[in-house]
Amino acid sequence: MLKVVKFGGSSCADATQFAKVKSIVQSDPARRVVVVSAPGKRFKDDHKITDLLYLCAAHIKYGVACDDIFGMIRGRYSDIARGCKLTISLDAEFDALWERMKRGEVSDDELASRGEYFSAKLMAAYLGFDFVDAALWIKFRFDGSVDQAASYEALQRAADGRGVVIPGFYGVMPDGHVKTFSRGGSDITGALAAAALDADVYENWTDVSGILMADPRIVSNPAPIRHVTYNELRELSYVGAQVLHEGAVYPVREKGIPLNIRNTNDPTHPGTLIMEKVEDEADNSDSFITGIAGKKGFSIITVAKTSLSSEHGVLLRIMEVLEKHEINVEFILSGIDTVSLTVSSEQVQKQLYEVLGELQKELKPNSITVVEHIAIVAAVGRRMAYRLGTSGKLFATLGEHGVNVRMITQGPDELNIIVGVEEKDFEQAIRVLYDSFVKEKNVL
Ligand code: ASP
Repeated sequence: MLKVVKFGGSSCADATQFAKVKSIVQSDPARRVVVVSAPGKRFKDDHKITDLLYLCAAHIKYGVACDDIFGMIRGRYSDIARGCKLTISLDAEFDALWERMKRGEVSDDELASRGEYFSAKLMAAYLGFDFVDAALWIKFRFDGSVDQAASYEALQRAADGRGVVIPGFYGVMPDGHVKTFSRGGSDITGALAAAALDADVYENWTDVSGILMADPRIVSNPAPIRHVTYNELRELSYVGAQVLHEGAVYPVREKGIPLNIRNTNDPTHPGTLIMEKVEDEADNSDSFITGIAGKKGFSIITVAKTSLSSEHGVLLRIMEVLEKHEINVEFILSGIDTVSLTVSSEQVQKQLYEVLGELQKELKPNSITVVEHIAIVAAVGRRMAYRLGTSGKLFATLGEHGVNVRMITQGPDELNIIVGVEEKDFEQAIRVLYDSFVKEKNVL
C-alpha cells in the first residue's frame, strides 16, 4: 500500500504545522511519499513565502534592494528549523542563492521555486526521509507540457520504495532550467508523483475538511462533500466551484487513483474522496445533490424568426459569426421560432454590436434581443439522475422564493440541472437550493 501525500502552504506554515504533518505521516506507514508546498500564511495578514519570492524577483528586475524581504524569507525557515529542533542549517544554501541573485543569475521561476525547495529540505530532515529534488524528475518539454513518461520513469528510479520528501511546484526544462507550474502547482506535483508510483491513493492535505457543497461566502457553514466522482467535480468546477486545477486531477484520474482531500488541522475527518465511480455501498450520503455552484457574468442572445427551426443551417451560420469573434457559446437552446445563446458577457461586451449586426445580416431575423446580467446556477449530483421530481422540486423552490428562472438546461446524463437567473438573485438562488436540497434532505 502506498499513499502519496501532499501538504499545502498552510500545512507547512510554521513549526506547529510541521509537527501536525509529522504526526499524520507517522500515523500510517503507507504515507511514504510526501510533497510539500512553500510555507503559507500563519495568520490572516501574513505573507506566503512564494509571494515574497516573487516580490524579491520584481525588486531585482527594477534594481531595487530586496535585502529585507530576503531576510524575512530566511527568517521563516530558521524559525521552523528552530521550532522543530532541527540541526540542519540552510545557511550555506541561502548565502549561495543570495550571491547568485545579486549577480542576476537566478530566473524568476528558479527564485519562486526555492520556497518549496527549502520547505522540502526541512521536512525531509524532520521526518527522517530522503529529499528528492523535483528538478531530478519532473521534466518539461520546451512547449511547457510535462513529459509524463520520462518524468514517471525518473521518479520510479529516484523514490524506489523509500520514504521521500519532494518539493512541489516546479520541474526542469530540457536545457536544465527550473520551470514552475502556475500558482497552486504543488497539487500537480503531488498528482504526478502519485501517478508515477501507482499509488493507492493521492491525499491532498489542506486547511479545509474537503470540498464544500456550496460556496461558504454564500451559504453559511456548508457541509463538505464526502464522495464525488471525477465527472461531477468537472461539472462543479465548470460552473464556478473553486476546486482543484485540471492538471492536478488528470494524472491520477488517468490511472484510476482516488484523490482524497483532507484537513491537516482535523486529521480524523475523512474529507472528500474523489473517484471515477462511487459504489452504492460507500454512497451513504443522505443528500442526492453532490454540490451547488454557479457564477455571474453571462448574457443571453435570443434570435427570433418565424419557422427558424425548419430553415437549414441556421445554427451553423450563428456559430460561424460567434466563432469569427472568438466567442464561446456556453449553452444553446432552440425552440420553434427562436434560438438562445448563453455567452460570457466579458467575451461579448466589446464586440456586441458588431456581432448583433452580423447576425442580423446573416439571418434576417424578426428580432434579436440581449439580456445581460445573467448568472448560472447548477445543482450537480450523480444520485439525481433518473430520479423523478428533482427538477420539479428545484423549480418550485426557486419560484417560492421569488427567483425568476431565465434559462434551463439539463444534460442527457442527468448529472446536473443548470438554470440561468438574474444576477441580483444569484446568492438567494444558491442559498434556497442548498436549504431545500441539502438541509431538508430528500423529501420529494
Ligand atoms: N507555493 C506555490 C503557490 O503559492 C505553489 C503551491 O503552493 O501549490 O502558488
